[in-house]
Amino acid sequence: MNLSNRLQEAAEQFAGKTAYHFLDQSATYAELNGAVNKMANYFDSIGIKKGDHVGLLLGNSPHFVIAMYAALRTGATVIPINPIYTPDEIAYIIRDGDVKAIVALDLLLPLIEKAHAALPSVAHYVVCETEQGTAEKLEALPEEVKGKVIAFTQAIGTQQPVFKGPELNEDDTAIILYTSGTTGKPKGAMLSHKNVYSNAKDVAEYLDITKDDRVVTTLPMFHVFALTVVLNAPLINGGTMLIVPRFSPKDVFDVVEKYKATVFAGVPTMYNFLLQYPEADGSSFKSVRLCISGGASMPVALLENFENKFNVRVSEGYGLSEASPVTCFNPLDRDRKAGSIGTTITNVENKVVNELGEEVPVGEVGELIVKGPNVMKGYYKMPEETEVTIRDGWLYTGDLAKQDEEGYFYIVDRKKDMVIVGGYNVYPREVEEVLYTHPAVVEAAVVGVPDPNFGEAVHAYVVLKDQSVTKDDLLSFCAEKLAKYKVPTVVEFIEELPKNTTGKILRRALRDQVKQS
Ligand code: AMP
Repeated sequence: MNLSNRLQEAAEQFAGKTAYHFLDQSATYAELNGAVNKMANYFDSIGIKKGDHVGLLLGNSPHFVIAMYAALRTGATVIPINPIYTPDEIAYIIRDGDVKAIVALDLLLPLIEKAHAALPSVAHYVVCETEQGTAEKLEALPEEVKGKVIAFTQAIGTQQPVFKGPELNEDDTAIILYTSGTTGKPKGAMLSHKNVYSNAKDVAEYLDITKDDRVVTTLPMFHVFALTVVLNAPLINGGTMLIVPRFSPKDVFDVVEKYKATVFAGVPTMYNFLLQYPEADGSSFKSVRLCISGGASMPVALLENFENKFNVRVSEGYGLSEASPVTCFNPLDRDRKAGSIGTTITNVENKVVNELGEEVPVGEVGELIVKGPNVMKGYYKMPEETEVTIRDGWLYTGDLAKQDEEGYFYIVDRKKDMVIVGGYNVYPREVEEVLYTHPAVVEAAVVGVPDPNFGEAVHAYVVLKDQSVTKDDLLSFCAEKLAKYKVPTVVEFIEELPKNTTGKILRRALRDQVKQS
């Protein structure tokens, strides 16, 4: 079984059911499947075949879903790329990923015009009409570019809505995800058909995502959290995606109300924005049965405030690109434990180990390692990096975790974010959790900075909602709740924390800020 076959089956099983709503458009499963086949025929007509690589430079829209499933149907590998990366970052991934064809937002036409000569591997660009006047802009392109570019509607226009693709093997690479590359160059995690399909199926089963669910799809589709949890999981089960092009609290509350959404998924930052949104009240999420959080640790105070305000359960989970991504979730049929990433999902194994790779006792901190059908094949063209990351079939996540007696896991921090103050380990998350409990704090991030006496010192960056609070107030608040060496040496007020497009806080940017000041 693979995603593309499963969508074909779903189209037969749920033919007249709505697959997605997007702005004022919607499509049934039969219509979506027909569009996928037309696009697959177009790819076939330009010579895309099994093993070729197709890049997607798209925001959240049906184009993404259609192009991804179509490329998979031809046997090609899909490489989703964040469309707001810098031109250099995009070019790096296109070159490293040996991309042959690209489906892109029309907003990127100027970039294509500028960069196409330097990207000889790419013979075809399909641009999706999201703005007025795309046709005129295509017409105005210089001749040498014009031959390579076609509009999405034109590409699928005359194609047949049936397609017979090649046989796919479960170990064929379906998707290559370039990880955000916090160290060194981004690495392409190769996920097989088995990896992506099994994880979507296992997550859906664990969280009971069914044909009756209407799932808010506002997480960016190019990120693995969205791909598996709010795109593939609903689609393989006959659910309905409520596609929100770009996260905004207003748009989320609007689709929840309009379509009576049943599932919402977001990163903690999104929960914070939703919670602060002045026009929402206790009934704004009343149709939602489950809120899913992942991608970064959910501060306990935020989780509880959100649950209390909207009277909805928030279930935190954990994953990483290299594991397609999910390994843990708070289960539906047992307690959800605030601050925990939950228990191991079906078919996956999680273990906490010491430096020697030996399992540590319950309650002790070590590195979280993962095994299962969801673990990637390896990094594209990086065998050495792969060997370091996957050992004896176990994926080393680089995250520090501990487990309790009931099998719930807790992420303590990223291994590399740990701060060592005079020989003592300080986990930024622990300090942030305390800051989040202060009523004047909206967001907080803690980083380690070099210190001449203690090796490193703890710096806290805080976004306030109540400006009357002083730095000293916050320091005394921390001193009441934390051992002395964990209390920040400096509290810095900041208007906004730097974040990537998935909403994860960029600690590296904060550390750089300290260095420059
Ligand atoms: P990515 O590959 O971009 O999905 O990033 C994966 C990383 O995000 C993991 O290795 C963790 O460091 C972090 N992460 C994901 N979910 C959580 C969570 N619930 N709590 C803490 N960190 C998380």
